[in-house]
Amino acid sequence: MPTLFEKIIAGELPADVVYRDSRVIAFLDIRPAARIHILIVPNKPIPTVNDIADEDESLIGHMVIVARDLARQQGIAESGYRLIINCNADGGQEVYHLHLHLLGGRPLGPMITRNT
Ligand code: AMP
Repeated sequence: MPTLFEKIIAGELPADVVYRDSRVIAFLDIRPAARIHILIVPNKPIPTVNDIADEDESLIGHMVIVARDLARQQGIAESGYRLIINCNADGGQEVYHLHLHLLGGRPLGPMITRNT
């Protein structure tokens, strides 16, 4: 079964695409957690961080470069932002196609809620 993001990459599901090249696509998160919430997604269907191969090193670096450029473009480079990749159940991953969240446009608070 193709994931939602594979369908977006294939153009079978609509998305607000803000950037695209031969290796990645970036689109607005459908349920934004901040004023700016963009997902940077590799065209290659890598399910989780655990499935990243050594040969994907430049692809993963490219995702971060695209996030950096989008942060500048969205005007949040100086105010700041957060990049997140969730992995599996404890990481809160919902879609099993690797993606980098770019979040900003407001103070994001602590990285995670502390239990103590
Ligand atoms: P994660 O929990 O890291 O797997 O994040 C999945 C993200 O995908 C969530 O923030 C969802 O709001 C977002 N999402 C799910 N379906 C879509 C969609 N069709 N278009 C855009 N974003 C989506």
